[in-house]
Amino acid sequence: MNYSPFLILLLALVIALYFIFRNKRVARGNLSKSDLKLLRDHVDFYIRLDDAKKKIFEQKIIDFLSVVKIEDVGLDIEALDKLLVASSAVIPIFGFDNWRYKNLSSVVLYPDTFNKDFEFDGAESNIMGMVGTGYMNGQMILSQAALRHGFSRSAGKENTGIHEFVHLLDKSDGATDGVPENLLAHEYTLPWLKMMHEEMKRIESNKSDINPYALTNEAEFFAVVAEYFFERPEILKDKHPALYEHLSKIFSQEPL
Ligand SMILES: [Zn+2]
Repeated sequence: MNYSPFLILLLALVIALYFIFRNKRVARGNLSKSDLKLLRDHVDFYIRLDDAKKKIFEQKIIDFLSVVKIEDVGLDIEALDKLLVASSAVIPIFGFDNWRYKNLSSVVLYPDTFNKDFEFDGAESNIMGMVGTGYMNGQMILSQAALRHGFSRSAGKENTGIHEFVHLLDKSDGATDGVPENLLAHEYTLPWLKMMHEEMKRIESNKSDINPYALTNEAEFFAVVAEYFFERPEILKDKHPALYEHLSKIFSQEPL
């Protein structure tokens, strides 16, 4: 008697079940009580959500941390740091159902700002965060001090973590150019570019409250106004209603 077709079928079934349950395991789980308290104490975006959306936010945090490694250079990572990195990642994509940062495998935390040679005690160490390119593709570097400051009450409309994840979203269509083609319907591309350039002129002539770092280029403009949108939505909506509306379309959410 020949058992091999039966054995092959059985093996296939076992493998299929393994993958089904493995994926389920990633999708389940809970944050600990102390994690939830850290979110409540530090993440305003989370505090503003209703209970049902808080649950979704928590799940997205778990999913993110199950696929992206958080590594450290010269410091001890605390639970708070992991949660703040994950929150920075989840906030910009909270309006999308199944977003995965395909172009990211790890986030490296440095104790403080660093320079372009990745030294944090060398000259011109003023970089707070960056998305890796070239051999560093798939990595993001963040200053722990800047990450924590971004979620503190005194940070105003600035948040380094959110800024860097918005660059990553922008990059997901192949170009970090301030125009997230796969999030913005084609007919909004030109109006969006026009709006960026008009606001850049106002910043240039000191007639805007947007951080002048936005003048660097369109990609920086997009990341800077996105920080503003998520950190101080009420002020942005009041002072720049058209910009607020465009960003709501791009991110498919209204943080107010
Ligand atoms: Zn930037």
